[in-house]
Amino acid sequence: MLKRTLMALLLAVALYAQQPAPDLVLTNGKIITVDERFSIAQAVAIRGDRIVATGTNQEIGQLAGANTRRIDLKGKAVIPGLIDNHMHLLRAAATWAKELRFDGVDSRKQAVEMLRARVKAAAPGDWIYNIGGWAHQQFTDDPRAFTREELDQIAANNPVALQESYYQVFLNSKALTILKIEANAPDPAEFVKGSILRDASGKPTGVVRGDIAATRVVANKLPRVAPEQLEASSAALVRDMNRAGLTSFGVPGCDADPLAIFEKWKAEGRLNVRVFCMGGAAAGNPDGVNRSIQQLAGMKLFQGDSYIDNVFFGESVYSPLHDPMFATKSNPTVEQLEAWRKIAMAIAQAGLPLHVHAELSGTIDAFLDQIEAVNKEHPIKNLRWTLAHINQINASQLERMKKLGMYAAVHPWAVINGAIMHDSFGDGAFDMPPLSTIENSGIMWGLGTDGTAANQTLPLTTLYFAVTGKMAGGTKVIRQTISREDALIAHTRKNAYFVFQENNLGSIQAGKLADLVVLDRDYLTIPSDQIKDIKPVMTMVGGRIVYDAQTPTALR
Ligand SMILES: [Zn+2]
Repeated sequence: MLKRTLMALLLAVALYAQQPAPDLVLTNGKIITVDERFSIAQAVAIRGDRIVATGTNQEIGQLAGANTRRIDLKGKAVIPGLIDNHMHLLRAAATWAKELRFDGVDSRKQAVEMLRARVKAAAPGDWIYNIGGWAHQQFTDDPRAFTREELDQIAANNPVALQESYYQVFLNSKALTILKIEANAPDPAEFVKGSILRDASGKPTGVVRGDIAATRVVANKLPRVAPEQLEASSAALVRDMNRAGLTSFGVPGCDADPLAIFEKWKAEGRLNVRVFCMGGAAAGNPDGVNRSIQQLAGMKLFQGDSYIDNVFFGESVYSPLHDPMFATKSNPTVEQLEAWRKIAMAIAQAGLPLHVHAELSGTIDAFLDQIEAVNKEHPIKNLRWTLAHINQINASQLERMKKLGMYAAVHPWAVINGAIMHDSFGDGAFDMPPLSTIENSGIMWGLGTDGTAANQTLPLTTLYFAVTGKMAGGTKVIRQTISREDALIAHTRKNAYFVFQENNLGSIQAGKLADLVVLDRDYLTIPSDQIKDIKPVMTMVGGRIVYDAQTPTALR
Protein backbone atom coordinates (compact mmCIF):
# COMPACT_ATOMS: atom_id res chain seq x y z
CA MET A 1 0.00 0.00 0.00
CA LEU A 2 2.73 2.37 1.04
CA LYS A 3 4.66 1.45 -2.06
CA ARG A 4 1.70 2.31 -4.32
CA THR A 5 1.25 5.69 -2.65
CA LEU A 6 4.90 6.43 -3.07
CA MET A 7 4.75 5.45 -6.72
CA ALA A 8 1.76 7.75 -7.29
CA LEU A 9 3.58 10.56 -5.55
CA LEU A 10 6.69 10.08 -7.66
CA LEU A 11 4.58 10.03 -10.80
CA ALA A 12 2.88 13.28 -9.83
CA VAL A 13 6.23 14.94 -9.19
CA ALA A 14 7.51 13.74 -12.56
CA LEU A 15 4.43 15.04 -14.35
CA TYR A 16 4.70 18.35 -12.57
CA ALA A 17 8.33 18.75 -13.59
CA GLN A 18 7.49 17.83 -17.14
CA GLN A 19 5.89 21.04 -18.43
CA PRO A 20 4.66 20.76 -22.02
CA ALA A 21 7.58 20.99 -24.41
CA PRO A 22 8.19 24.36 -26.09
CA ASP A 23 6.78 24.91 -29.58
CA LEU A 24 10.00 26.48 -30.75
CA VAL A 25 13.60 26.66 -29.64
CA LEU A 26 16.18 29.02 -31.08
CA THR A 27 19.70 27.79 -30.38
CA ASN A 28 23.31 28.62 -31.13
CA GLY A 29 22.76 32.38 -31.08
CA LYS A 30 23.88 35.45 -29.20
CA ILE A 31 20.68 36.38 -27.41
CA ILE A 32 21.01 39.98 -26.21
CA THR A 33 18.25 39.66 -23.63
CA VAL A 34 18.24 43.32 -22.46
CA ASP A 35 17.20 42.07 -19.02
CA GLU A 36 18.18 44.16 -15.96
CA ARG A 37 21.70 42.69 -15.99
CA PHE A 38 21.98 42.97 -19.79
CA SER A 39 22.81 39.28 -19.86
CA ILE A 40 23.63 37.29 -22.99
CA ALA A 41 22.23 33.80 -23.60
CA GLN A 42 22.79 31.18 -26.31
CA ALA A 43 19.26 29.95 -26.73
CA VAL A 44 15.62 30.69 -26.07
CA ALA A 45 12.51 28.51 -25.79
CA ILE A 46 9.02 29.68 -26.75
CA ARG A 47 5.62 28.12 -26.01
CA GLY A 48 2.51 29.68 -27.47
CA ASP A 49 3.09 33.42 -27.56
CA ARG A 50 5.53 33.57 -24.62
CA ILE A 51 9.16 32.97 -23.84
CA VAL A 52 9.48 30.07 -21.39
CA ALA A 53 13.25 29.99 -20.88
CA THR A 54 16.57 31.41 -21.93
CA GLY A 55 19.89 29.70 -21.31
CA THR A 56 22.70 27.69 -22.80
CA ASN A 57 22.26 25.50 -25.87
CA GLN A 58 22.30 22.48 -23.58
CA GLU A 59 19.73 23.81 -21.11
CA ILE A 60 17.30 24.85 -23.82
CA GLY A 61 17.99 21.81 -26.00
CA GLN A 62 16.90 19.55 -23.11
CA LEU A 63 13.47 21.22 -23.03
CA ALA A 64 12.70 20.42 -26.67
CA GLY A 65 10.27 17.59 -27.35
CA ALA A 66 9.44 15.51 -30.41
CA ASN A 67 7.18 18.22 -31.82
CA THR A 68 9.36 21.20 -31.00
CA ARG A 69 10.49 23.20 -34.01
CA ARG A 70 14.18 24.05 -33.88
CA ILE A 71 15.89 27.00 -35.49
CA ASP A 72 19.69 27.12 -35.58
CA LEU A 73 20.67 30.79 -35.35
CA LYS A 74 24.19 30.00 -36.60
CA GLY A 75 25.71 32.49 -34.20
CA LYS A 76 23.48 35.42 -35.11
CA ALA A 77 22.58 38.15 -32.62
CA VAL A 78 19.01 38.44 -31.36
CA ILE A 79 17.47 41.51 -29.71
CA PRO A 80 14.01 42.14 -28.25
CA GLY A 81 11.39 43.44 -30.68
CA LEU A 82 12.04 47.16 -31.10
CA ILE A 83 9.45 49.56 -29.72
CA ASP A 84 8.93 53.07 -31.11
CA ASN A 85 7.24 55.01 -28.32
CA HIS A 86 5.81 57.65 -30.70
CA MET A 87 5.06 57.01 -34.34
CA HIS A 88 2.03 58.23 -36.28
CA LEU A 89 1.69 54.70 -37.63
CA LEU A 90 -2.02 54.45 -38.41
CA ARG A 91 -2.17 57.83 -40.14
CA ALA A 92 0.50 56.57 -42.55
CA ALA A 93 -1.69 53.68 -43.70
CA ALA A 94 -3.75 56.05 -45.86
CA THR A 95 -0.73 56.93 -48.03
CA TRP A 96 1.91 54.25 -47.47
CA ALA A 97 1.31 52.20 -50.62
CA LYS A 98 1.46 55.38 -52.70
CA GLU A 99 4.47 57.01 -51.05
CA LEU A 100 7.96 56.82 -52.52
CA ARG A 101 9.79 56.52 -49.22
CA PHE A 102 13.43 57.55 -48.82
CA ASP A 103 13.96 56.06 -45.32
CA GLY A 104 17.48 54.61 -45.27
CA VAL A 105 18.31 55.86 -48.78
CA ASP A 106 21.65 57.65 -48.46
CA SER A 107 22.42 58.04 -52.17
CA ARG A 108 20.83 60.78 -54.26
CA LYS A 109 21.53 58.71 -57.35
CA GLN A 110 19.48 55.88 -55.87
CA ALA A 111 16.67 58.27 -54.91
CA VAL A 112 16.51 59.54 -58.51
CA GLU A 113 16.49 55.97 -59.81
CA MET A 114 13.62 55.14 -57.48
CA LEU A 115 11.80 58.21 -58.72
CA ARG A 116 12.33 57.23 -62.37
CA ALA A 117 11.08 53.71 -61.69
CA ARG A 118 7.93 55.10 -60.05
CA VAL A 119 7.29 57.38 -63.01
CA LYS A 120 7.72 54.50 -65.40
CA ALA A 121 5.21 52.39 -63.51
CA ALA A 122 2.68 55.21 -63.10
CA ALA A 123 -0.17 56.16 -65.41
CA PRO A 124 0.06 59.68 -66.90
CA GLY A 125 -1.31 62.17 -64.37
CA ASP A 126 -0.77 59.96 -61.30
CA TRP A 127 0.81 61.79 -58.38
CA ILE A 128 4.31 60.66 -57.40
CA TYR A 129 4.99 61.74 -53.85
CA ASN A 130 6.19 61.24 -50.35
CA ILE A 131 5.11 62.98 -47.16
CA GLY A 132 8.26 63.51 -45.14
CA GLY A 133 10.64 61.04 -43.52
CA TRP A 134 13.77 62.32 -45.26
CA ALA A 135 15.92 65.38 -46.02
CA HIS A 136 18.34 65.90 -48.89
CA GLN A 137 21.29 66.29 -46.48
CA GLN A 138 21.08 62.51 -45.95
CA PHE A 139 22.45 61.92 -49.47
CA THR A 140 26.17 61.19 -49.14
CA ASP A 141 27.02 61.18 -52.85
CA ASP A 142 25.43 64.51 -53.75
CA PRO A 143 23.54 66.31 -50.98
CA ARG A 144 21.57 68.72 -53.16
CA ALA A 145 17.92 69.67 -53.02
CA PHE A 146 15.67 68.86 -55.99
CA THR A 147 14.83 71.58 -58.52
CA ARG A 148 11.67 72.11 -60.52
CA GLU A 149 13.61 71.64 -63.76
CA GLU A 150 15.19 68.39 -62.66
CA LEU A 151 11.85 66.96 -61.54
CA ASP A 152 10.27 68.07 -64.84
CA GLN A 153 12.95 66.20 -66.70
CA ILE A 154 12.31 63.03 -64.70
CA ALA A 155 8.52 63.33 -64.71
CA ALA A 156 7.09 65.28 -67.61
CA ASN A 157 3.60 63.83 -67.39
CA ASN A 158 3.17 63.25 -63.66
CA PRO A 159 2.84 65.73 -60.82
CA VAL A 160 5.64 65.25 -58.27
CA ALA A 161 5.71 66.37 -54.62
CA LEU A 162 8.66 65.38 -52.43
CA GLN A 163 8.27 66.60 -48.86
CA GLU A 164 11.35 66.90 -46.65
CA SER A 165 10.33 66.28 -43.05
CA TYR A 166 7.87 69.14 -42.42
CA TYR A 167 10.40 71.68 -43.69
CA GLN A 168 9.74 72.08 -47.41
CA VAL A 169 8.21 70.41 -50.47
CA PHE A 170 9.79 70.10 -53.92
CA LEU A 171 7.27 70.31 -56.76
CA ASN A 172 7.55 69.96 -60.52
CA SER A 173 5.63 72.02 -63.08
CA LYS A 174 2.70 69.60 -63.34
CA ALA A 175 2.22 69.77 -59.58
CA LEU A 176 2.46 73.57 -59.58
CA THR A 177 -0.24 73.76 -62.26
CA ILE A 178 -2.57 71.45 -60.33
CA LEU A 179 -1.99 73.50 -57.15
CA LYS A 180 -2.67 76.73 -59.14
CA ILE A 181 0.73 78.15 -58.26
CA GLU A 182 1.45 80.26 -61.34
CA ALA A 183 3.99 82.82 -62.55
CA ASN A 184 1.66 85.71 -63.18
CA ALA A 185 -0.92 85.08 -60.51
CA PRO A 186 -1.02 85.74 -56.76
CA ASP A 187 -0.44 82.83 -54.39
CA PRO A 188 -3.59 80.75 -53.81
CA ALA A 189 -5.23 81.94 -50.59
CA GLU A 190 -4.95 78.61 -48.77
CA PHE A 191 -1.13 78.73 -48.76
CA VAL A 192 0.73 80.26 -45.82
CA LYS A 193 1.89 83.76 -46.75
CA GLY A 194 5.43 83.71 -48.09
CA SER A 195 5.64 79.92 -48.25
CA ILE A 196 5.66 79.75 -52.07
CA LEU A 197 9.19 80.58 -53.20
CA ARG A 198 9.62 82.54 -56.47
CA ASP A 199 12.66 83.72 -58.42
CA ALA A 200 13.38 87.40 -59.21
CA SER A 201 11.03 87.30 -62.20
CA GLY A 202 8.17 85.93 -60.10
CA LYS A 203 8.36 82.41 -61.45
CA PRO A 204 7.65 79.76 -58.77
CA THR A 205 10.83 77.78 -58.06
CA GLY A 206 8.90 74.65 -57.14
CA VAL A 207 9.69 74.98 -53.43
CA VAL A 208 7.03 75.45 -50.75
CA ARG A 209 8.76 76.09 -47.43
CA GLY A 210 7.76 76.90 -43.88
CA ASP A 211 7.00 74.26 -41.27
CA ILE A 212 3.94 72.06 -40.82
CA ALA A 213 1.32 74.70 -41.60
CA ALA A 214 2.97 75.49 -44.94
CA THR A 215 3.77 71.96 -46.09
CA ARG A 216 0.40 70.60 -44.95
CA VAL A 217 -1.40 72.57 -47.66
CA VAL A 218 0.34 70.45 -50.29
CA ALA A 219 0.15 67.19 -48.30
CA ASN A 220 -3.61 67.57 -47.88
CA LYS A 221 -4.07 67.67 -51.67
CA LEU A 222 -2.20 64.42 -52.30
CA PRO A 223 -4.37 61.40 -53.05
CA ARG A 224 -5.01 58.83 -50.32
CA VAL A 225 -5.45 55.14 -51.15
CA ALA A 226 -8.99 54.14 -52.11
CA PRO A 227 -11.01 52.61 -49.23
CA GLU A 228 -10.80 49.16 -50.82
CA GLN A 229 -6.99 49.50 -50.92
CA LEU A 230 -6.56 50.57 -47.31
CA GLU A 231 -6.05 47.00 -46.10
CA ALA A 232 -3.30 46.34 -48.66
CA SER A 233 -1.63 49.67 -47.84
CA SER A 234 -1.80 48.90 -44.09
CA ALA A 235 -0.30 45.46 -44.75
CA ALA A 236 2.59 47.01 -46.71
CA LEU A 237 3.16 49.44 -43.85
CA VAL A 238 3.18 46.71 -41.18
CA ARG A 239 5.45 44.59 -43.30
CA ASP A 240 7.96 47.44 -43.71
CA MET A 241 7.92 47.99 -39.95
CA ASN A 242 8.53 44.28 -39.23
CA ARG A 243 11.30 44.27 -41.82
CA ALA A 244 12.93 47.13 -39.89
CA GLY A 245 12.69 45.16 -36.62
CA LEU A 246 9.76 47.10 -35.13
CA THR A 247 7.09 45.16 -33.27
CA SER A 248 5.35 47.71 -30.98
CA PHE A 249 4.35 51.35 -31.16
CA GLY A 250 3.01 54.22 -29.13
CA VAL A 251 0.63 55.77 -31.65
CA PRO A 252 -0.68 59.34 -31.38
CA GLY A 253 -4.16 59.48 -32.89
CA CYS A 254 -5.17 55.94 -33.86
CA ASP A 255 -7.20 56.66 -37.01
CA ALA A 256 -10.49 54.75 -37.03
CA ASP A 257 -10.34 53.14 -40.49
CA PRO A 258 -6.93 51.47 -40.26
CA LEU A 259 -7.65 50.64 -36.61
CA ALA A 260 -10.70 48.66 -37.71
CA ILE A 261 -8.45 46.68 -40.07
CA PHE A 262 -5.93 46.07 -37.26
CA GLU A 263 -8.82 44.87 -35.03
CA LYS A 264 -9.93 42.47 -37.74
CA TRP A 265 -6.40 41.09 -38.13
CA LYS A 266 -6.17 40.71 -34.35
CA ALA A 267 -9.37 38.66 -34.30
CA GLU A 268 -7.90 36.49 -37.06
CA GLY A 269 -4.65 36.01 -35.12
CA ARG A 270 -2.52 37.78 -37.71
CA LEU A 271 -1.90 41.26 -36.37
CA ASN A 272 1.87 41.61 -36.70
CA VAL A 273 2.43 44.79 -34.67
CA ARG A 274 1.20 45.99 -31.28
CA VAL A 275 -0.31 49.46 -31.13
CA PHE A 276 -0.82 51.50 -27.97
CA CYS A 277 -2.87 54.55 -28.78
CA MET A 278 -2.84 58.04 -27.36
CA GLY A 279 -5.82 60.23 -28.09
CA GLY A 280 -8.41 62.59 -26.72
CA ALA A 281 -9.69 65.96 -27.79
CA ALA A 282 -7.24 68.79 -27.25
CA ALA A 283 -8.83 72.24 -27.09
CA GLY A 284 -7.98 74.50 -30.02
CA ASN A 285 -9.09 77.79 -28.45
CA PRO A 286 -10.49 79.18 -25.17
CA ASP A 287 -14.06 78.18 -26.11
CA GLY A 288 -13.00 74.54 -26.53
CA VAL A 289 -11.55 74.14 -23.03
CA ASN A 290 -14.73 73.08 -21.26
CA ARG A 291 -15.69 70.74 -24.07
CA SER A 292 -12.29 69.09 -23.88
CA ILE A 293 -12.64 68.69 -20.11
CA GLN A 294 -16.08 67.11 -20.46
CA GLN A 295 -14.84 64.73 -23.11
CA LEU A 296 -11.81 63.55 -21.18
CA ALA A 297 -13.82 62.91 -18.01
CA GLY A 298 -15.51 60.05 -19.86
CA MET A 299 -12.32 58.67 -21.39
CA LYS A 300 -11.75 54.96 -20.75
CA LEU A 301 -8.19 53.68 -21.12
CA PHE A 302 -6.76 50.17 -20.65
CA GLN A 303 -9.80 48.32 -21.99
CA GLY A 304 -7.71 46.48 -24.58
CA ASP A 305 -4.94 43.90 -24.52
CA SER A 306 -1.29 43.43 -25.44
CA TYR A 307 -2.04 43.92 -29.17
CA ILE A 308 -4.27 47.01 -29.18
CA ASP A 309 -5.00 49.34 -26.30
CA ASN A 310 -5.57 53.00 -25.43
CA VAL A 311 -3.00 54.13 -22.89
CA PHE A 312 -2.57 57.93 -22.89
CA PHE A 313 -4.30 61.25 -23.31
CA GLY A 314 -2.19 62.98 -25.96
CA GLU A 315 -0.31 64.25 -27.79
CA SER A 316 -1.69 67.77 -27.41
CA VAL A 317 -3.50 69.43 -24.50
CA TYR A 318 -4.12 72.93 -25.81
CA SER A 319 -3.09 73.27 -29.42
CA PRO A 320 -2.06 76.96 -29.39
CA LEU A 321 0.83 75.68 -27.21
CA HIS A 322 1.80 72.87 -29.60
CA ASP A 323 5.34 73.90 -30.64
CA PRO A 324 5.77 74.08 -34.42
CA MET A 325 8.57 71.79 -35.56
CA PHE A 326 10.98 74.43 -36.81
CA ALA A 327 10.20 77.22 -34.33
CA THR A 328 13.25 78.47 -32.45
CA LYS A 329 11.56 80.10 -29.45
CA SER A 330 8.28 79.95 -27.62
CA ASN A 331 6.51 82.64 -25.61
CA PRO A 332 3.40 81.12 -24.12
CA THR A 333 0.98 83.74 -22.76
CA VAL A 334 -0.58 83.69 -19.31
CA GLU A 335 -4.02 83.05 -20.82
CA GLN A 336 -2.77 80.14 -22.92
CA LEU A 337 -1.05 78.57 -19.93
CA GLU A 338 -4.19 78.95 -17.82
CA ALA A 339 -6.16 77.06 -20.46
CA TRP A 340 -3.44 74.40 -20.61
CA ARG A 341 -3.43 74.03 -16.82
CA LYS A 342 -7.22 73.76 -16.60
CA ILE A 343 -7.22 70.83 -19.01
CA ALA A 344 -4.14 69.24 -17.41
CA MET A 345 -5.84 69.56 -14.00
CA ALA A 346 -8.85 67.66 -15.35
CA ILE A 347 -6.58 64.99 -16.84
CA ALA A 348 -4.89 64.49 -13.46
CA GLN A 349 -8.22 64.52 -11.64
CA ALA A 350 -9.51 61.81 -13.98
CA GLY A 351 -6.37 59.76 -13.20
CA LEU A 352 -5.28 59.64 -16.85
CA PRO A 353 -1.75 59.19 -18.15
CA LEU A 354 -0.64 62.14 -20.31
CA HIS A 355 1.83 62.12 -23.22
CA VAL A 356 2.33 65.67 -24.43
CA HIS A 357 4.28 67.27 -27.27
CA ALA A 358 6.87 69.71 -25.86
CA GLU A 359 9.93 70.72 -27.81
CA LEU A 360 11.28 74.18 -27.00
CA SER A 361 12.95 75.05 -23.73
CA GLY A 362 10.46 77.85 -22.98
CA THR A 363 7.54 75.51 -23.52
CA ILE A 364 9.06 72.78 -21.37
CA ASP A 365 9.62 75.22 -18.48
CA ALA A 366 6.10 76.62 -18.81
CA PHE A 367 4.51 73.16 -18.90
CA LEU A 368 6.54 72.07 -15.85
CA ASP A 369 5.31 75.17 -13.95
CA GLN A 370 1.73 74.11 -14.70
CA ILE A 371 2.34 70.45 -13.92
CA GLU A 372 3.89 71.32 -10.54
CA ALA A 373 0.74 73.33 -9.75
CA VAL A 374 -1.49 70.47 -10.91
CA ASN A 375 0.55 67.97 -8.89
CA LYS A 376 -0.17 69.86 -5.65
CA GLU A 377 -3.91 69.27 -6.10
CA HIS A 378 -3.94 65.93 -7.92
CA PRO A 379 -0.66 64.02 -7.56
CA ILE A 380 0.50 62.59 -10.88
CA LYS A 381 3.17 60.30 -9.43
CA ASN A 382 1.98 57.00 -10.90
CA LEU A 383 0.35 58.32 -14.06
CA ARG A 384 3.51 58.22 -16.22
CA TRP A 385 3.07 61.79 -17.44
CA THR A 386 5.45 62.17 -20.33
CA LEU A 387 6.97 65.06 -22.22
CA ALA A 388 7.54 64.06 -25.84
CA HIS A 389 10.18 65.14 -28.40
CA ILE A 390 12.06 67.43 -25.91
CA ASN A 391 15.09 68.05 -28.12
CA GLN A 392 15.79 71.22 -26.08
CA ILE A 393 15.49 69.66 -22.62
CA ASN A 394 18.17 70.57 -20.04
CA ALA A 395 19.47 69.09 -16.78
CA SER A 396 17.38 71.23 -14.44
CA GLN A 397 14.19 70.44 -16.36
CA LEU A 398 15.02 66.73 -16.15
CA GLU A 399 15.46 67.13 -12.38
CA ARG A 400 12.02 68.74 -12.07
CA MET A 401 10.51 65.95 -14.16
CA LYS A 402 12.14 63.27 -12.04
CA LYS A 403 10.75 64.83 -8.85
CA LEU A 404 7.30 64.70 -10.41
CA GLY A 405 7.75 61.05 -11.41
CA MET A 406 7.58 61.96 -15.10
CA TYR A 407 8.97 60.16 -18.14
CA ALA A 408 10.95 61.51 -21.11
CA ALA A 409 10.04 60.36 -24.64
CA VAL A 410 12.96 61.43 -26.84
CA HIS A 411 12.45 61.79 -30.59
CA PRO A 412 15.63 63.03 -32.19
CA TRP A 413 14.36 64.97 -35.18
CA ALA A 414 18.02 65.68 -36.03
CA VAL A 415 18.31 62.17 -37.49
CA ILE A 416 17.10 63.78 -40.73
CA ASN A 417 16.84 67.47 -39.76
CA GLY A 418 20.30 67.84 -38.21
CA ALA A 419 21.57 70.19 -40.92
CA ILE A 420 18.42 72.34 -40.79
CA MET A 421 18.65 72.51 -36.99
CA HIS A 422 22.28 73.64 -37.18
CA ASP A 423 21.16 76.45 -39.51
CA SER A 424 18.47 77.51 -37.02
CA PHE A 425 20.23 77.04 -33.70
CA GLY A 426 23.95 77.22 -34.50
CA ASP A 427 26.11 75.26 -32.08
CA GLY A 428 23.14 74.85 -29.73
CA ALA A 429 21.97 72.15 -32.11
CA PHE A 430 24.89 70.00 -30.93
CA ASP A 431 22.91 69.39 -27.73
CA MET A 432 19.55 68.68 -29.38
CA PRO A 433 18.83 66.26 -27.91
CA PRO A 434 21.32 66.11 -25.00
CA LEU A 435 21.35 62.32 -24.88
CA SER A 436 24.05 61.76 -22.28
CA THR A 437 22.51 64.40 -19.98
CA ILE A 438 19.20 62.57 -20.27
CA GLU A 439 20.78 59.13 -19.67
CA ASN A 440 22.84 60.39 -16.72
CA SER A 441 19.85 62.08 -15.10
CA GLY A 442 18.45 58.65 -14.26
CA ILE A 443 14.97 59.55 -15.54
CA MET A 444 12.88 56.85 -17.22
CA TRP A 445 13.37 57.69 -20.88
CA GLY A 446 12.88 56.01 -24.24
CA LEU A 447 13.68 56.52 -27.91
CA GLY A 448 11.23 56.96 -30.75
CA THR A 449 11.08 58.77 -34.05
CA ASP A 450 7.85 60.78 -34.37
CA GLY A 451 7.71 59.28 -37.91
CA THR A 452 6.47 58.87 -40.52
CA ALA A 453 6.52 62.54 -41.71
CA ALA A 454 8.56 64.46 -39.10
CA ASN A 455 11.28 61.82 -39.12
CA GLN A 456 12.48 58.64 -40.75
CA THR A 457 11.20 55.39 -39.30
CA LEU A 458 14.11 52.91 -39.13
CA PRO A 459 15.11 52.07 -35.53
CA LEU A 460 18.62 50.95 -36.44
CA THR A 461 19.20 54.40 -37.95
CA THR A 462 17.98 55.96 -34.68
CA LEU A 463 20.33 53.70 -32.68
CA TYR A 464 23.23 54.65 -35.00
CA PHE A 465 22.42 58.34 -34.38
CA ALA A 466 22.32 57.86 -30.60
CA VAL A 467 25.68 56.03 -30.55
CA THR A 468 27.60 58.11 -33.13
CA GLY A 469 25.88 61.52 -33.02
CA LYS A 470 25.60 61.34 -36.81
CA MET A 471 22.49 62.09 -38.81
CA ALA A 472 21.35 59.90 -41.71
CA GLY A 473 24.12 60.31 -44.27
CA GLY A 474 26.90 60.51 -41.69
CA THR A 475 27.30 64.19 -40.73
CA LYS A 476 28.03 64.61 -37.02
CA VAL A 477 25.18 66.75 -35.65
CA ILE A 478 25.06 66.09 -31.88
CA ARG A 479 27.91 65.79 -29.40
CA GLN A 480 26.13 64.01 -26.55
CA THR A 481 26.15 60.36 -27.50
CA ILE A 482 25.42 57.25 -25.40
CA SER A 483 26.63 53.66 -25.29
CA ARG A 484 25.06 51.16 -27.65
CA GLU A 485 23.78 49.22 -24.64
CA ASP A 486 21.96 52.28 -23.24
CA ALA A 487 20.57 53.13 -26.68
CA LEU A 488 19.19 49.62 -27.13
CA ILE A 489 17.66 49.64 -23.64
CA ALA A 490 15.95 52.95 -24.50
CA HIS A 491 14.48 51.43 -27.68
CA THR A 492 13.26 48.23 -25.98
CA ARG A 493 12.95 47.62 -22.24
CA LYS A 494 12.44 51.23 -21.20
CA ASN A 495 10.01 51.84 -24.04
CA ALA A 496 7.89 49.00 -22.68
CA TYR A 497 7.01 51.38 -19.82
CA PHE A 498 5.87 54.01 -22.33
CA VAL A 499 3.20 51.64 -23.57
CA PHE A 500 2.37 50.18 -20.11
CA GLN A 501 3.69 46.75 -21.14
CA GLU A 502 6.77 46.33 -18.95
CA ASN A 503 5.48 42.95 -17.75
CA ASN A 504 5.03 41.71 -21.32
CA LEU A 505 7.53 43.42 -23.59
CA GLY A 506 10.98 44.95 -23.91
CA SER A 507 13.32 42.07 -23.03
CA ILE A 508 13.89 38.42 -23.84
CA GLN A 509 13.01 36.79 -20.53
CA ALA A 510 10.90 33.86 -19.34
CA GLY A 511 7.30 34.99 -18.98
CA LYS A 512 7.43 37.82 -21.50
CA LEU A 513 5.81 37.81 -24.91
CA ALA A 514 8.02 36.34 -27.63
CA ASP A 515 8.75 39.48 -29.65
CA LEU A 516 12.28 39.37 -30.97
CA VAL A 517 14.49 40.23 -33.93
CA VAL A 518 17.34 38.17 -35.40
CA LEU A 519 20.02 40.45 -36.89
CA ASP A 520 22.43 39.78 -39.73
CA ARG A 521 25.30 41.35 -37.77
CA ASP A 522 26.13 41.72 -34.09
CA TYR A 523 24.83 45.04 -32.79
CA LEU A 524 27.24 44.93 -29.84
CA THR A 525 30.50 44.46 -31.73
CA ILE A 526 30.04 45.90 -35.23
CA PRO A 527 31.85 49.25 -35.83
CA SER A 528 29.41 51.95 -34.68
CA ASP A 529 29.26 53.58 -38.13
CA GLN A 530 27.73 50.36 -39.45
CA ILE A 531 24.90 50.06 -36.93
CA LYS A 532 22.55 51.68 -39.48
CA ASP A 533 23.44 48.96 -42.00
CA ILE A 534 22.40 46.07 -39.76
CA LYS A 535 19.44 44.23 -41.28
CA PRO A 536 16.91 42.12 -39.44
CA VAL A 537 16.73 38.65 -40.97
CA MET A 538 13.78 37.45 -38.92
CA THR A 539 11.20 39.25 -36.79
CA MET A 540 8.85 37.52 -34.39
CA VAL A 541 5.72 38.84 -32.68
CA GLY A 542 4.05 36.73 -30.01
CA GLY A 543 5.97 33.63 -31.12
CA ARG A 544 4.87 34.02 -34.75
CA ILE A 545 7.46 34.70 -37.45
CA VAL A 546 6.15 37.87 -39.10
CA TYR A 547 9.16 38.65 -41.25
CA ASP A 548 11.72 36.26 -42.70
CA ALA A 549 14.27 37.66 -45.12
CA GLN A 550 14.48 34.28 -46.84
CA THR A 551 10.80 34.16 -47.67
CA PRO A 552 10.12 37.83 -48.28
CA THR A 553 6.52 37.68 -49.47
CA ALA A 554 5.16 34.37 -48.26
CA LEU A 555 4.04 35.44 -44.82
CA ARG A 556 1.04 37.68 -45.45
ZN1 LIG B 1 4.41 65.87 -31.68
